[in-house]
Amino acid sequence: MGSRHFVIIGNGISGITFARHLRKGDEKARITVISGESPYFFSRTALMYVYMGQMKWEHTQPYEPFFWKKNRIDLKQAWVKSITFEAKALVFESGETLNYDVLVLATGSKPAFFGWPGQDLKGVQGLYSKQDLETMEAITSEPMERAVIVGGGLIGIEMAEMLTYKKIPVTFLVRENRFWELVLPDAEASLVHKHIREHAIDLRLGTELKEIISDAQGSVRAVITSTGEEIPCGFVGIATGVLPNVDFLRNTSLAIGKGVKVNAKFESSVPDVYAIGDCAEFEQPPGPGRRNLEQVWYTGRMHGETLAYNFCNTPVAYQPGIWFNSAKFFAIEYQTYGWVSPEPVSGVQDFFWEHRDGKVSFRMSLDQEGKVLGVLNLGFRLRHEFFDRAIREKWSGEKVMQELGKGVFDPEFYAPYHQEIQAAYQRHFGGKIVSSKKSFFHKLFGASQ
Ligand SMILES: Cc1cc2nc3c(=O)[nH]c(=O)nc-3n(C[C@H](O)[C@H](O)[C@H](O)COP(=O)(O)OP(=O)(O)OC[C@H]3O[C@@H](n4cnc5c(N)ncnc54)[C@H](O)[C@@H]3O)c2cc1C
Repeated sequence: MGSRHFVIIGNGISGITFARHLRKGDEKARITVISGESPYFFSRTALMYVYMGQMKWEHTQPYEPFFWKKNRIDLKQAWVKSITFEAKALVFESGETLNYDVLVLATGSKPAFFGWPGQDLKGVQGLYSKQDLETMEAITSEPMERAVIVGGGLIGIEMAEMLTYKKIPVTFLVRENRFWELVLPDAEASLVHKHIREHAIDLRLGTELKEIISDAQGSVRAVITSTGEEIPCGFVGIATGVLPNVDFLRNTSLAIGKGVKVNAKFESSVPDVYAIGDCAEFEQPPGPGRRNLEQVWYTGRMHGETLAYNFCNTPVAYQPGIWFNSAKFFAIEYQTYGWVSPEPVSGVQDFFWEHRDGKVSFRMSLDQEGKVLGVLNLGFRLRHEFFDRAIREKWSGEKVMQELGKGVFDPEFYAPYHQEIQAAYQRHFGGKIVSSKKSFFHKLFGASQ
């Protein structure tokens, strides 16, 4: 190992994980991390809590400022304007340049806008960066009769919760007929719809944004929806997905699709240039059922760890393991492990249980032989290790049920839902998985039945 200069563009979870693990494995490496957004790494997923006053900005920083000096990781706050790959040089917006031996692109995502008339008006924005948060804070601190959120996914529901917390009435436009249609099956989506409406949010399913109307000062005054309705509002939150933040890398020798094209070792088309995290696009999906883009927190961390490992050991291909994800829809926690289809799939059996209070549910998908493929739970927590193992080792549905008490995160804190789930499963299957070629779905209302 020599004393090469590793330059990382992006101080998010992927870039910082890479830097930390590289330092652990390579004493001599010179490491520089660049970000235009913030001087220090922060938890992007905590942005909403800063807005709601439940956390201070400094609490979103997992490491104290001295950590970087101690670990000899140089931080530079600046925007990179362009890269000359032939000269291995970055050019900053200030005109300054910096040379690298190895470059790691970890530039994250940006909100996706789809060319709506009026999308550039004041008061129309996405929520991704610290700067987005600051703008949202400034605009929504002014009195307004309503805000409109566009896009039925994780960031949309967060924005709706943030505004509701500040007592701003919210209309929530979801193009599809259910919230987070790409992920949530119908029953879970219905549960979440009820919960959203309980928070006095005007949820409009099957409704798209058509146009945003300006007032005389160039600020948003109203939106027009696909049904032709005009909804007066002072803020429009665009949450229609994210795209890899790679525009400044286009028109170079670097191969770019939606993101920076990489192989399973995160190598780009240019020697000594790598990409990790939200901005990386795998040439081949990294595993069965996986996508070419992985835009979540934990995969960013795994990308960073794997790439750092590869610089300190014999390089290996990225192995993403069993998929998992978690989020929160207002008070309802969401987790998923493995593969659960939002739509019925031939040959896949779904066991579904919903608690009588309508705020807790559990779904387990099984293959034709009754082996667990994945689970999706709302309103209570399951243990990662348990389900990772059950899915990896292809446990039968019965075995998962027998052991479920060990898979529940905190049975003392939550009601002992696992007992109700086990009872419902037992009642339905009589302890046996009934094999079926057709997908089916059962809604069982816990102990009340
Ligand atoms: C509001 C919100 C909530 C979320 N909640 C969840 C959640 O609950 N669970 C989950 O798994 N994921 C969640 N995510 C997604 C998750 O935060 C991202 O997947 C993750 O942060 C991506 O990390 P990254 O390291 O790839 O990039 P980023 O965190 O985006 O970091 C990239 C950095 O690079 C900087 N940069 C880019 N271009 C340049 C340039 N030219 N010059 C200098 N700097 C540059 C950017 O400004 C940024 O600071 C959420 C995202 C948002 C916005």
